[in-house]
Amino acid sequence: MTETKPGRRRPPKFELVGGNVCLDFINTLDNRPSAKPKELLTSYYELARFGEDTGILTAEQLDYFFERVHLMPDEAAEAMRRAINLREALYAIFSAVMNQKTAPQLAMDRLNANIHDAALHSRLAQREGRCEWRFEDLKSSLPAMLWPIARAAADLLGSSDLALVRACSSPTCQWLFLDSSKNHHRRWCSMQQCGNRAKARTFYAKKKTAQRFSISD
Ligand SMILES: [Zn+2]
Repeated sequence: MTETKPGRRRPPKFELVGGNVCLDFINTLDNRPSAKPKELLTSYYELARFGEDTGILTAEQLDYFFERVHLMPDEAAEAMRRAINLREALYAIFSAVMNQKTAPQLAMDRLNANIHDAALHSRLAQREGRCEWRFEDLKSSLPAMLWPIARAAADLLGSSDLALVRACSSPTCQWLFLDSSKNHHRRWCSMQQCGNRAKARTFYAKKKTAQRFSISD
């Protein structure tokens, strides 16, 4: 008897506010500047969920990985090590660029190794009058879902959009995003999260000042 897999789509787990998959990937270490950063990629299952949320993996590919991952614990652990190494290399490179510094060579070497790996498995395909990179063997190995992330990072780092990469103004957040707003004055990763919290802080600070003045008057 064959078991039919429902074509389910899980509810999104990751907040995708980066405007580019490689920036969303960097943001999977939450509260990075704080004393206790929160790791959102705690296992290969979470990494694959990130793949589904961002559209790197289809629901069917995710099911395939979910079935295989517990059979291949060593490969899953190695894929996670590579994922975290890539993520931290990307963070080092993008934060160096934002601060007009030279990125650490080790980070560049790690990204280049991933780009090389991605290039071996991608080809340029035509679609609706233009060309795009396609990865056709994303199910071939557990780290395969890192290829599109490395590719996206390479494209962004080599494009004029690089000047639009910003860090959220909240000192405890600093998630990265691509500021594609009209005037390029976006300050927050998301208005719902950090923007509203900052607004509330300003509101209470003003209220407290107003109270102080009313007492002394
Ligand atoms: Zn933020």
